[in-house]
This record gives sequence, structure tokens and C-alpha cells, in this order.
Amino acid sequence: MNYDIIIIGAGPGGIFAAYELMQHNPNLKVAVFEAGHALNKRHCPIDGDKIKTCIGCKSCSIMSGFGGAGAFSDGKYNITNDFGGTLYEYIGKKQAMDLMHYVDEINMRYGGNGCKLYTTAGTKFKALCIQNDLHLLDASVRHLGTDINYVVLENLYAELKDKVTFFFDAPVDAVKVIPGGYEVTVKDSAYSCQKCIVSVGRSGSKWMEKVCKELHIPTNSNRVDLGVRVELPATVFAHLTDELYESKIVYRTKQYGDKVRTFCMNPKGAVVNENTNGIITVNGHSYEDPALQTDNTNFALLVSKHFSEPFKDSNGYGESIARLSNMLGGGVIVQRFGDLIRGRRSTPSRMEDAFITPTLQATPGDLSLVLPKRILDGIIEMIYALDKVAPGTANDDTLLYGVEVKFYNMEVEVNEHLECCYPGLYIIGDGSGITHSLSHASASGIHVARAIAQS
Ligand SMILES: Cc1cc2nc3c(=O)[nH]c(=O)nc-3n(C[C@H](O)[C@H](O)[C@H](O)COP(=O)(O)OP(=O)(O)OC[C@H]3O[C@@H](n4cnc5c(N)ncnc54)[C@H](O)[C@@H]3O)c2cc1C
Repeated sequence: MNYDIIIIGAGPGGIFAAYELMQHNPNLKVAVFEAGHALNKRHCPIDGDKIKTCIGCKSCSIMSGFGGAGAFSDGKYNITNDFGGTLYEYIGKKQAMDLMHYVDEINMRYGGNGCKLYTTAGTKFKALCIQNDLHLLDASVRHLGTDINYVVLENLYAELKDKVTFFFDAPVDAVKVIPGGYEVTVKDSAYSCQKCIVSVGRSGSKWMEKVCKELHIPTNSNRVDLGVRVELPATVFAHLTDELYESKIVYRTKQYGDKVRTFCMNPKGAVVNENTNGIITVNGHSYEDPALQTDNTNFALLVSKHFSEPFKDSNGYGESIARLSNMLGGGVIVQRFGDLIRGRRSTPSRMEDAFITPTLQATPGDLSLVLPKRILDGIIEMIYALDKVAPGTANDDTLLYGVEVKFYNMEVEVNEHLECCYPGLYIIGDGSGITHSLSHASASGIHVARAIAQS
């Protein structure tokens, strides 16, 4: 065998798995294959000047490379079982929380020290929300910010680079079962190992599906979350974000009984493009450094859809809607809330008239031509509900960017060690469909590393 363990994907799941393996046994021969670039080579060409929109790079630097999709993320490590994944269903609630705290300790040691830990414990906003038919979920969140998150990744790479063999720009084509282990092929080369950890994240979802089909690994369809990213003056949410940083608020619509939730709140942050398999959607992030902060806060409003019979392809449904927005807007569409409720598109002149400066250059348009009525009605209802706890949310100039889609990988059937039906083949992180966040994905990496070390 070339290696004891091969890790596919150098996102948080893969990095923390490698880190923990080295803590338990530095003599292990471990290789990490990553489709994207090394951290210092990751650059998105969009500069807002010469290159304004996504040009579809072969390897998207936002989603791929050392650090995975999390590298330029807001670095919000939510320590909770209430959202961010269902890891606790496999390993137990206490174990999941312990692992997330352990990940937090590592982050603090590798550059995050000093970053604030926010918590919903004892907050007055819980009561305020419930009085207005809104539900605030419990969580602690360590906000590293895009800048400190990068420093932590740099330090983790410095720690690992001489102990683990990294292959960058090395997309794994196939995983084969061989006697005593596995063989992975990258371009024209093959590498063998006794154990294999697959941590390919959301960008590897199609590839993961292919591998599961080829190896007959059972899977279940997962949900897709659809909605918009809201951007408004930071003062509107300041009372909430100053205390909690991120508030996960859920609302059940009166009209349909659907749940709409806030997601990924970025105080004084920026709205950004996201490229998933060539489809441009929207996301957001913010910096810890005050010099890089903006005057706006952004967050997503999302509705979950899960299809099972006869149509199972929840992600395909989300993709079609995102494609429609790309077709109409050439990328992401932006609309003022006032224009949406008046049934008219936003135009460049209406946007210029607004009292808010958008942080993302998007095409002014009409989201009602893109999002299904049921989803859009739910979002509008929630904006009015949020207006009661954060007056100003339903202002005419509140910006809605669309579409925001959260694709979830199909859920791979794994046991309590996150090992699939093949002994020694582990599927972790967002690629497993079990985690959807930095802290859960990282915790899943620690969990398998310990399972391997003890086996
Ligand atoms: C803009 C943005 C902001 C975000 N903000 C937050 C946040 O603040 N808080 C939060 O909790 N979550 C956030 N997320 C989500 C978070 O980044 C992910 O949940 C997390 O990165 C998942 O970790 P992972 O290791 O499972 O997968 P990923 O981070 O996606 O890493 C998987 C890696 O595998 C590689 N790969 C894929 N296929 C192959 C292959 N065939 N061969 C080799 N390598 C392959 C990819 O290139 C990638 O680098 C954000 C995501 C984005 C895009």
C-alpha cells in the first residue's frame, strides 16, 4: 500500500481528520488529495472592475482548495445540535457537542484566540421573538471572520504540511475496492491505501453520487433550501447582532404552514456570488477587522423542500430554479422589497434611487419571475414578521438577492463511525449529507480519525 490512509478533499472535514490522525499517531502515512489549489493560490478573479461576474474557472477558488468551501467563509463556527447538520443522530448529542468544542479549542490555538464567542443563553430576544410568532434557536457561535479564518487555515497547513502528503489540483476520479483496502485514481496515476476518508463537500456532490452508484453504496435523497439573501442597513439588526452575532430565527407561515428561517447572518458584511457546478447563486460573509466591514447586514431567508415520490431529485429542482435566475439575470438578480410587493421589477434607476448601497453588483430584476409563488409568499410573510422585532426590515429599500440555494448532498448510509457498507471507507462532512456547516464537518473529521486510531 502507498499510504495507510488517503483523505479525499481538504475542506474542514479532511483537514481536521488529518490533524487528529497526526495527534494520535504521527507515524501514519497519510495523503490528502484536493481538487482545488493550495491556500495561497486560491483567488477568485472577480474584482468588481474588469471582471464583474463569474467566469467559470476550472477549479472555483471560492468552493475548492485547501480550506474547502469554508476558506473564504465568514468563519462562523456554530456550536449546536439545533442546526448545521445531524451528526448527533450518528454519534450522540453529547459527543457531537464535545467534538465541536474540541474543534473550537484547536481554532483558538491556531490563530483564533481573541475572537468572540456569542451565545443565545439568557438572551431577552428569545421572548421578544416568541411574542411575535418567531422562534430563536439556541446556539453558541464563534465568529472568526473571513480574515482570521484564513489565518487559522494558514497555521493548520503549516502544522500539517511536513507530516501529511498534500496533493493539490488533484481531483480524484475514482475509488476502487482492492484486496485489503482502496485505490484512488487521479489523472493517470493510482494510489492505494488501507483506509479511505471521503470528505468532498458540496462541490463534490455529483462525484459522490457517481462513486455511490459505482460501489452500490446505499443513499437517501436529501432536501434543498431555496430563498433569497436579504441586505439592509446594519443598524436595523444591530440590537440582535451586537449581542448574538448570528440569530437563527424560524417562522411558520400563516398561509401554507411552511417554515421559513434566517440563515448565515453577516453583520456589516458583504453579499457574494457562489458557483456550484457552474450555477451562480448568492451567499454572504463578513470580516472581523473593522476596516473591512460595510454599512450593511445580510442574511438568507430560506424554505426547505424535500421531494420523495415520484420525483426524488430535490437538488435538481433547486438547480432548475437557480438556472432560471441565471438565464434572466445573467447571474444573480437583485430586487428592492418595495418593487417586489408592488409587482414591478427593479431597474438600474430604481436601484440608484435607493438609500442603500448594494455590496454585490447584481442585475436589477424581478424575483417573482424566478421563485415559486409559495416560496416567495413565505419569504414576504417572514419579512413582515421580522419587521416587528427589527423595525425597518420591511422597508422599500431592503434588497433581496436571488436566488440563494443550499444544496444538500444525498445522505450516504453510514454507521456510528461514519463508515459506509465497505469497512475502512468513511464518508464525512457535507459530502455525506449529514453535516452542513464548518463545525459539524470539522467534528466529523475528528470523529473518524479517532475511530481509525482506535481500530
Ligand atoms: C461563501 C460560503 C460561506 C459559508 N459560511 C459558513 C459559515 O460562516 N459557517 C458555517 O458553518 N458554514 C459556512 N459555509 C459552509 C461551510 O463552508 C461548509 O459546511 C464546510 O466547508 C463543509 O466542509 P467539508 O470539509 O465537508 O466540505 P468542503 O469545505 O466543501 O470541502 C470539500 C473539498 O473537497 C474537494 N473535492 C471535491 N471533490 C473532490 C474530488 N473528487 N477529489 C479531490 N477533492 C475533491 C473540494 O475541492 C473541497 O475543497 C459557507 C459556505 C460558503 C460557500
